[in-house]
Amino acid sequence: MTPLERALRERIAAEGSITLEAYMEACNAYYYATRDPLGAKGDFITAPEVSQMFGEMVGAALADSWTRAGKPSDAIYVELGPGRGTLASDALKALRAAGFEGEVHLVETSPALRTRQEKALSVAHWHEEIPDLPAKPLLLVANEFLDALPIRQFVGGVERRVLVAAGGLAFDRDGDIVETSPAREAAVAAIATCLAAKGGAAFFIDYGHAKSAPGDTLQAVRGHRFAPVLDNPGEQDLTSHVDFEAVAAAARDAGAAVAPLVAQGEWLDRLGIGVRADTLGKANPGKAAEIQAALDRLTAPDQMGDLFKVIAIHSADWPQPAGFA
Ligand code: SAH
Repeated sequence: MTPLERALRERIAAEGSITLEAYMEACNAYYYATRDPLGAKGDFITAPEVSQMFGEMVGAALADSWTRAGKPSDAIYVELGPGRGTLASDALKALRAAGFEGEVHLVETSPALRTRQEKALSVAHWHEEIPDLPAKPLLLVANEFLDALPIRQFVGGVERRVLVAAGGLAFDRDGDIVETSPAREAAVAAIATCLAAKGGAAFFIDYGHAKSAPGDTLQAVRGHRFAPVLDNPGEQDLTSHVDFEAVAAAARDAGAAVAPLVAQGEWLDRLGIGVRADTLGKANPGKAAEIQAALDRLTAPDQMGDLFKVIAIHSADWPQPAGFA
């Protein structure tokens, strides 16, 4: 039994059962706090870990928005859930090349990952929560952050809970599921409020669907394989698909503008990742096949290209970012 499972069982014994939302929050807090989950030896790989080209495109798009907004000198680079710091490091190269000299602010709860981020980035400011960010124009990116925030599930209008049954963890009910994520909407609303007040642009990149729809999208991943969601609590990554319709509504309600949702592959193509891959391949002929494989992985419809989507939220005073219809 995992240490977290022991603690959860005590809590469930005391409370009778806990909501799936409380379960997911406890599991992910423990999971991220105690490890670096990324990479071949970890549990999963993300786009910035596939290739530097991903962060370069994000940085180029943020640089373009910042330039067209008149290069406000108080703008800051912000990342939510920056993992190993790879995306920040690659994006900042493109931003610095465009003349951006602003501060770097990272929202990260995991001590293990903060240590990795300190190695990747020489100077940055860390925060526990979004409301701790300074009130400045934001150049923000969050990759695979929203999917890790807790969700609620409802069966027939009744919230799904986790209890102990037959010696293991089990759901209190099964049936057709509807998901919501107040935590996700609160995170997006907090960023959108800041964008509306101070200016800026934010990219949220994740797997998910363009329209709200019923269905169970909760998944657990361990060692690059799917696993039952109630197994090994705190030892596997729990995520759900992002409902981008709900994200867009939360952003608009908070007073920000929202660009039309675009698939990751199409967005990267429009930003010129193909040209960047050619340039990198010519400069490193020995790595041309590897670079092409990374390009395919990021953009091909049957790989990350279609499942992953990008939503841009921006201040109405700033132009719509590049790459959106
Ligand atoms: N963006 C990175 C890492 C994705 S994994 C990449 O693409 O490689 C999810 C990240 O979100 C981790 O850094 C994790 O520690 C962080 N995270 C998860 N829940 C969080 C929360 N509630 N607050 C802040 N960070 C969180």
